[in-house]
Amino acid sequence: MQPAACRSAATGGRHSGPGNKARPGLPMFRRPPGSPGAMRQCGTSRMTPTGAIAIQVAIFPESRRFMFNVRQFTNLLPQPVRFELRRRLFAGSARECPLCGNSVKAFHGHGGGAAVLDERKVVGGMRREDDRCPVCHACDRTRMMMLFLESETELGRRPMRILHVAPDFGLYLWLRRQPAVDYVCSDIDAKRYRHIEALQIADLTKLHFDSDSFDIVICSHVLEHVPDDAAAFAEIRRVLKPGGKALLLTPYAMDGRPTDEDPSIHDPVEQDRRFGQWDHVRIYNRDDFLARMEAAGLQTRLFEPIREMPERATELALNPLEALPIGIRPAQPA
Ligand SMILES: [Zn+2]
Repeated sequence: MQPAACRSAATGGRHSGPGNKARPGLPMFRRPPGSPGAMRQCGTSRMTPTGAIAIQVAIFPESRRFMFNVRQFTNLLPQPVRFELRRRLFAGSARECPLCGNSVKAFHGHGGGAAVLDERKVVGGMRREDDRCPVCHACDRTRMMMLFLESETELGRRPMRILHVAPDFGLYLWLRRQPAVDYVCSDIDAKRYRHIEALQIADLTKLHFDSDSFDIVICSHVLEHVPDDAAAFAEIRRVLKPGGKALLLTPYAMDGRPTDEDPSIHDPVEQDRRFGQWDHVRIYNRDDFLARMEAAGLQTRLFEPIREMPERATELALNPLEALPIGIRPAQPA
């Protein structure tokens, strides 16, 4: 993973009512064919401009430092201008992104960069080529979540209330095109989401949402940032309706070694070396991640698209090694 595509430790915005209308704030994105209606942004509240420069010098190789500086400049542009520039710059016919609906010359390489990610066989952290939409920055994991939502939930077939934590832009665009979705999104650091409408500021470990109030919670690449992840799992379970589902994705190690974590480390260089990114506090072992979900009272299942839906998984260029942990709040009290 690279710092430009992760999540800060939390959550926040709300779009009520039918999410399927063309939204005036999103005119530069074409609707995908057949649509019924109409990135890795890391950074936490700890990060200051001075800190950002220190981190890039300490961690990034020269090539990534250049792109970091380009991004620092383009971040000054209004969001609609940035996205329209990307859409025009990368327009082509080789790939079509199902999330934002744009056709592009190619998907881009994404992820990687820290030795520990390769060493620990971290799925969701390794570099993948031909992966990320250059317009909305949706990548393999975004497409995997979309596939789960369209194939394993009743999204679009009945009214649903969805909480999207640290909303990635591609999935945000896609969800807002779905009918009968009451869409709520949140993060602890609102300034990272200028492109997201009505984001609510919320700490994932202390959510202000009512209990039993969401059909679906989406929380991707957040929990590896959260020191007290047990509190976060408990909050996710609390806000889910009985029978509700949580899509809980995180980078996870597949080398057989246990979860490595130390939330007391506040040295970005050491965090990058040990956990694969300057603001991570752990690398999960996948089985342990599922065990922590179960300890919070969630039933678990792994959605494995390459095994369950191989043709569609290939068509969407999903990572064949990646599975999506699903937490289900039991319909009846345990
Ligand atoms: Zn896209």
